[in-house]
Amino acid sequence: MNIKPSTPFPTAALIDGQWVNSPKTFAVLDPATGEKIADVPDLTPEDTKRAIDAAAKAFPAWAAKPAKDRAVILRRWFDLIIAETESLAQLMTAEQGKPIAEARGEVAYGASFIEWFAEEGKRAYGHTIPTTVASRRYVTIKQPIGVCAAITPWNFPIAMITRKVGCALAAGCTIVVKPSEETPLSAIALAKLAVDAGVPAGVFNVITTLDGPGCGKVLTADDRVRKLTFTGSTEVGRILYRQSADTIKKLTLELGGNAPLIVFDDADLQQAVAGTMASKFRNAGQTCVCANRILVQAGIFDKFVASLKEAAGKLVVAPGREATSTIGPLINGDAIEKVKSLLSDAVSHGAKIEMGGKPDDHGALFFSPTIVTGITDKMAIATEEIFGPVASIFRFETEAEAIRIANDTPFGLAAYLFSQNLSRAWRVAEALEAGMVGVNEGVFSNEVVPFGGIKQSGLGREGAQEGLDEYLETKFICLGGI
Ligand code: ADP
Repeated sequence: MNIKPSTPFPTAALIDGQWVNSPKTFAVLDPATGEKIADVPDLTPEDTKRAIDAAAKAFPAWAAKPAKDRAVILRRWFDLIIAETESLAQLMTAEQGKPIAEARGEVAYGASFIEWFAEEGKRAYGHTIPTTVASRRYVTIKQPIGVCAAITPWNFPIAMITRKVGCALAAGCTIVVKPSEETPLSAIALAKLAVDAGVPAGVFNVITTLDGPGCGKVLTADDRVRKLTFTGSTEVGRILYRQSADTIKKLTLELGGNAPLIVFDDADLQQAVAGTMASKFRNAGQTCVCANRILVQAGIFDKFVASLKEAAGKLVVAPGREATSTIGPLINGDAIEKVKSLLSDAVSHGAKIEMGGKPDDHGALFFSPTIVTGITDKMAIATEEIFGPVASIFRFETEAEAIRIANDTPFGLAAYLFSQNLSRAWRVAEALEAGMVGVNEGVFSNEVVPFGGIKQSGLGREGAQEGLDEYLETKFICLGGI
């Protein structure tokens, strides 16, 4: 069955509750076909400034609303998103390329953050602190931090927005979002449903632009923006971190990863293969938590590679709108070039292509699921994010060696290990330098657990109780003269 993209949603930006067009536009392309889906406004830095003005104006009333009242609106937003699952999924697949089944899954996953934070916002508790002086009492209260800015990537066009906006709005903040120029339509669709749900003008603004750096400069320079939340490359994260220094903004940065996935001799082979498939090939390998380095112990190595080949052989490369597709196109030509160059570097240093290794003839942006063995830490593929459907496999002998290789990276986002030995699983999970560790699981993110990295993978956590705190300030009140 072929599913056609339908776009019942606007193609304009949203500032202060108004749909905004501009004489200058840019095209959003379907990566599966290269065809244009829509034109969206290419807004200027002045427009970003207007969006901040709107968010600042809307902040006092939104912050003053009881969390319970904000939750009613957020719950309506959640319900509308769920009701529109099919049209949102089709839109996402059209502009991002992922298989339609994954797009539907992302709508549910993305919506879950709104449902969760609508409730969690009611639990922004402070403390009473036993006094040190008889005439005083001590309490803390939590207050929304203020106007926030979010800059988001293209790989999860809905979830990377709801994870930030759902939380910010629940906390009582207002927000200006700049979605990726590759996938602005999903962001606009979310904003439309937010308006329909009753989110007041100025509380949630969307700036579509090709000028990410120009928009980023305005967002970071403005003192009224008290928090910046960014998901994207470490390189751009560093720029935004630097730019935020002058106004001492609070930051959440979800940056690149280089996830190790370790398969020990005592792993359950089926579990390890299923976990590797899910971690590696989801979204055609284009997630920051995808297994980037698969480390397999010598005793299980041959069996694991053979089983992984068998499982990867069942993947269906096809445009995401085709119901059977499990591997869609990569996002753009640069992504294809990067995968090709990492593979040719690896092969030139002695790696062996076990499967795939070449573009797929469905179109310019499709790449065959690939398995490559003989990877060493001398190869670029071991240190750079692949962001494509390429499983790169190291061989190791001892637990200590696996931990050393796994931690030999400036990144620390996700890590995975497969072992049936509880002591080993616990020991290695503790030793891995990562913000998240999956034990016998290849995919684990959801709204109730904290997502985020250590080292150069970023700052802060999204989702869970920790996520709400990122949008709140703690105020200590000392009540004297008692
Ligand atoms: P990716 O390589 O995954 O696209 P990027 O870090 O380049 O990751 O992009 C993530 C987001 O950051 C996108 O919305 C992009 O437009 C935006 N962006 C890129 N460069 C800058 C910048 N200098 N300032 C602000 N935003 C930027």
